Amino acid sequence: MPKIIELDSHVADLIAAGEVVERPASVLKELIENSIDAGAGVVTVEISAGGMTYMRITDNGCGIAPEDVKTAFLRHATSKLRNAEGLESIGTLGFRGEALAAIAAVSRIELLTREHGAKEGVRLLLEAGEVVDLSPVGCPEGTTIIVRDLFFNTPARLKFMKSDRAESSAAASTVTRSALAHPDVSVRFLRDGKTDCHTPGDSRTDSCIYSLLGREFSAGLLSAESSDEAVSVTGFVSSPDAARSNRGYQFFFVNGRPIRSATLQAALEQAYVNLLPSGRFPSCVLYIAVKPSDVDVNVHPAKTEVKFVSDKQVFESVRYAALGALERARASASLELDAPHVSEGVDFSAPTRAKSLPKAYSPKGGGGFKSMSADEFRSTHVSEGSNPYIGTQDNNGTQCDNSALHTGAATPYNGEKIRQAQLAPSAQLSIVNCQAPIVNCPSPPVPRVIGEALHTYIIVEYDDSVWFIDKHAAHERLHFNALKSENFEPMSQSLITPVVCRHGFEDVSLLLENAGLLDDLGFEAESFGTDAVAVRRIPAEIEIGDTEAVLSDICALLRLGGTAESANAANAKLDDIYKTVACKAAIKAGRDSGTRELEALAAKVMSGEVSHCPHGRPVAFEIAKATLDKGFKRS
Ligand code: ADP
Ligand code: MG
Repeated sequence: MPKIIELDSHVADLIAAGEVVERPASVLKELIENSIDAGAGVVTVEISAGGMTYMRITDNGCGIAPEDVKTAFLRHATSKLRNAEGLESIGTLGFRGEALAAIAAVSRIELLTREHGAKEGVRLLLEAGEVVDLSPVGCPEGTTIIVRDLFFNTPARLKFMKSDRAESSAAASTVTRSALAHPDVSVRFLRDGKTDCHTPGDSRTDSCIYSLLGREFSAGLLSAESSDEAVSVTGFVSSPDAARSNRGYQFFFVNGRPIRSATLQAALEQAYVNLLPSGRFPSCVLYIAVKPSDVDVNVHPAKTEVKFVSDKQVFESVRYAALGALERARASASLELDAPHVSEGVDFSAPTRAKSLPKAYSPKGGGGFKSMSADEFRSTHVSEGSNPYIGTQDNNGTQCDNSALHTGAATPYNGEKIRQAQLAPSAQLSIVNCQAPIVNCPSPPVPRVIGEALHTYIIVEYDDSVWFIDKHAAHERLHFNALKSENFEPMSQSLITPVVCRHGFEDVSLLLENAGLLDDLGFEAESFGTDAVAVRRIPAEIEIGDTEAVLSDICALLRLGGTAESANAANAKLDDIYKTVACKAAIKAGRDSGTRELEALAAKVMSGEVSHCPHGRPVAFEIAKATLDKGFKRS
């Protein structure tokens, strides 16, 4: 049996660092918690290059006594826990005494600290956990910790780091959560020298939320609360109108600590179950207080998850708080509707903002933007290169042998068959030429659009059959094929008023990193604050109101898979992104479509260009005349 040895303290620190220090954001989380534990009312957080090279946290807290400074960096050194009983009722944010040791083990640290009332402070320098210098220094009361060159001595770890931009977004997300957790503390966050956000620290959750998440987010919030002897919930939930396409804005805090919890998320979403369509999510900032003995905060090394003694009790309290907020909003909305000013003044038929925005498209090959209505665009786009038979009755050619189409039964459409049929006219043309003048030839079969059933299926008479085409599936496939083709030039509409999409910090960096892909698809998005993008251009066929949802789906797909992907996996991912865009760009089942639009689509389908939608469903379905005749006992 291998000999059992005790790990040396440096190795143990590195292992602990792996648990606690995952990326710059996790360092910030620990250091901000320490500042808050130290009673700070003002905390300034500054990072450069996503925090990988430089992070500085300054607070006006109690400071550390010179004699304790070195001890603070030892493993299991803490001023917050004296014995095991203390574990039960610990009120402060951290207690494991491991953060400083873990961070120091994988970075270069400079600490400046001065206790309140002390004449001077001390400066401690550490490198990979080893003390390099400790000397007296003049500095303000409180503590400043500078963390440089994170993971400089653990190259394997360094390799796992994402781009600076992604790290910076994750850092911003962490700072936001920490600041939201403490409206009584004024938090200022600077990224690469610029102030990102600054909370007033006036103990008001509304002003804290406003300064971190902005006016638009705040405007969509309803205040929520519930309390019983075991659980109290206060904060805000979003009104159904303000729902988002992702869960990036669900903020939960348990006893002052930012928490991710499936229980809490489910409780919130339960309250909206009949109010939101699938794919839309409520947002919230909810502060939940439970007795310390009713929650275990030590189930996750970074303390971002908790275990409740009674999941059910907490679930019900959160759901109840959200339901109450929604109910009050409903009641006051109906009161408003009853009020005379509404019925007098508001024109409900006025066009929505999205509809009234001018649209433009970029013609293939560039050349500026020209305005064009969506309907105009659709018909142009769909009929581009479409079946020459449509609307051109003077085509030369002759009746082809369509026996391949006469299957006699209702069969799902097979694109191959039609393709043969299309080849036939010219093939037969040469024979006809030998026999008779072309002018006397019968016309080739022309798909005739009879109409549309159920706002979904185009009914087409084609040769000796009736075809049903799923308009959405067909259009989706055509668009998907176009996106995949090498020389695809997206047609875009420029938005005069950019659409601001709040995707949360991490997705925003994902979108910005994939600007090239977005451009290929017809989107242009630029950074807008820490957690949003301003979208200036979208594919011409996508409705403005769908912008956020499409980008959110694209983010979800981009997030899938690791960094070292095979070419196949990357292609499959790209296909999925194309499918998403094609689906949203396609005309919708259940909506009215213009005759020209239906005809152009039918022509493309009947030319055999597409047979199945990108998800594999057939786009068209044939009932042969023979089948109909049989049904009516005509033959
Ligand atoms: P923990 O926070 O779990 O006690 P840490 O390793 O994070 O463990 O910190 C160790 C100790 O260092 C703390 O218990 C606290 O006494 C001291 N300390 C850390 N940061 C600060 C700070 N910003 N201000 C005052 N004291 C601090
Ligand atoms: Mg700590």
